[in-house]
Amino acid sequence: MVAIEHADQHAGRTVVLRGWLYNLRESGKLLFPIFRDGTGVMQGVVSQKDYPDAFAALKGLTQESSVIVTGKVQAEPRAPGGYEIHISGIEVVQRVPESDPYPIQLKEHGVDFLLDRRHLWIRTPRQAAILRIRAEAVRAAHNFMDGQGYTLTEAPIFTPAACEGTTTLFEVNYIDDQKAYLTQSGQLYVEATAMALGKVYTFGPTFRAEKSKTRRHLTEFWMLEPEAAYAHLDDMTALGEGLVSAMVQSVVRNRARELQTLGRDVAKLAKIEPPFPRISYDEAVQALQNAGNPVKWGDDFGGDEETLLSKQFDKPVIIHRYPAAMKAFYMATDPVRPDLSLSFDMIAPEGFGEIIGGGERQASYETLLARIREAGLPEEAFQWYLDLRRYGSVPHAGFGLGLERTVAWICGTEHIREVIPFPRMLYRVYP
Ligand code: ATP
Ligand code: MG
Repeated sequence: MVAIEHADQHAGRTVVLRGWLYNLRESGKLLFPIFRDGTGVMQGVVSQKDYPDAFAALKGLTQESSVIVTGKVQAEPRAPGGYEIHISGIEVVQRVPESDPYPIQLKEHGVDFLLDRRHLWIRTPRQAAILRIRAEAVRAAHNFMDGQGYTLTEAPIFTPAACEGTTTLFEVNYIDDQKAYLTQSGQLYVEATAMALGKVYTFGPTFRAEKSKTRRHLTEFWMLEPEAAYAHLDDMTALGEGLVSAMVQSVVRNRARELQTLGRDVAKLAKIEPPFPRISYDEAVQALQNAGNPVKWGDDFGGDEETLLSKQFDKPVIIHRYPAAMKAFYMATDPVRPDLSLSFDMIAPEGFGEIIGGGERQASYETLLARIREAGLPEEAFQWYLDLRRYGSVPHAGFGLGLERTVAWICGTEHIREVIPFPRMLYRVYP
């Protein structure tokens, strides 16, 4: 048994592949199938004269029928992947009936048609390549965080209250009519585990009832959130650029074939290494105004502003010190300019938008309590969080990296719905 991705190591040998028929071209006494096995696609050839049984089994075989193929691997520079299989035997495991053919043909389909069949769409080489790149990025992220001395401490998904108000929360009927919400960020909890373990992160699904229908928003997405005790804003911008670079470089190294399947410009990714450019919010507003954008000091940046800023750099750009009024109640303020928060966002290049948001947290009990009151948040629900400031409060900082936004940029995909196996969006929870 050989995986197609390792076919090059078996040139000249007879091997067995287990997979599915992706495509079949018939030309008289020759058949040219393309097989896929999950690790890649491989072209084959069988002649009626040499292998009549294999020829008969394959002739007229329907797309996505499952097959076990025996044949000799040979170099063929014109074939995708550089190798083809000269077939001597075919065992059909399940034949897709002609009366109910595989619904996704090898032609363009509309995206709603494909999303309704997402459970099948993921079989196409492009979608499979994206999911393999996602897995590689996740693996690299864990390796990097581990190498930096961060311990994985998972945050809960059922939460009693919102971090930042309830407008984008999914409410759940918890046991005996208790109300709970699906988490929109694990941050408050990693602040607690950071005080217990020093340097921690959580990595898991987060949920936001985003009413905006954009190509960058899902209602369920994965976020990696580091948090460190005795850390400041600059520690987190450095950690963020290291993490993002490690994810990109690991994909470039280990998923070159998949990037090629996607037609991604790898030269652009190869440049992604520290340091990333850093500009303050003040400078960003100035740069946008100079470029003719109507943004005013105090405005949040939307997709247009992010795209305009990112176009000026060929690496992700770090924008730091946003106005305090714009950021969440737990954000620390700049001691030199109290109207600014010690926050930062990282904006991906090529218009892929914000991939990281984070900063230093408010460490003072009195200030935090005042902020909770100002924001009109339920004080009782935050008593445990206030405990972190009652008992040995220290400066601490962290961020949240959106996995799908990061992977969409690495893959160069237009919409982030393609980079998660089963996307959840405004009007889609099927399949
Ligand atoms: P945006 O303003 O782009 O909606 P945000 O500022 O609300 O994002 P944060 O709360 O800072 O997002 O979350 C941290 C990261 O999580 C973001 O930088 C982004 O990468 C990711 N993220 C946030 N919301 C979504 C979403 N709805 N779908 C996918 N990823 C998201
Ligand atoms: Mg943000």
